Amino acid sequence: MKKIMILHKVYSIIEPDRLLDSDPDMNDSNADAYCDLITKVICIPRRSEEGVLHSEAYRQELLEHEIIHALLYESGNTPEQPGGSEELVELIRFISSYIRVTGVSECL
Ligand SMILES: [Zn+2]
Repeated sequence: MKKIMILHKVYSIIEPDRLLDSDPDMNDSNADAYCDLITKVICIPRRSEEGVLHSEAYRQELLEHEIIHALLYESGNTPEQPGGSEELVELIRFISSYIRVTGVSECL
């Protein structure tokens, strides 16, 4: 099991073959992954619920998305606040990937 430090909190990254319907974090959600902010577990499954293998690039996007949820939460945002906003999380992920691709110096 991989571990990642997010603002001085240790998160475990689990990579099951696929999400389970009984997973309590996936109730009322159609997400492909999740971050449990209480137990500090990020779950990035290898396959969709239909059994289709996720590409490594897609799994990296999922991981970045869930890490941003954790970063926002650990910086004081509760899920009802901006940290829980899927749009904000995706915007931050897009900006960070843009900076990574173009290089910081071109953005400043
Ligand atoms: Zn999300």
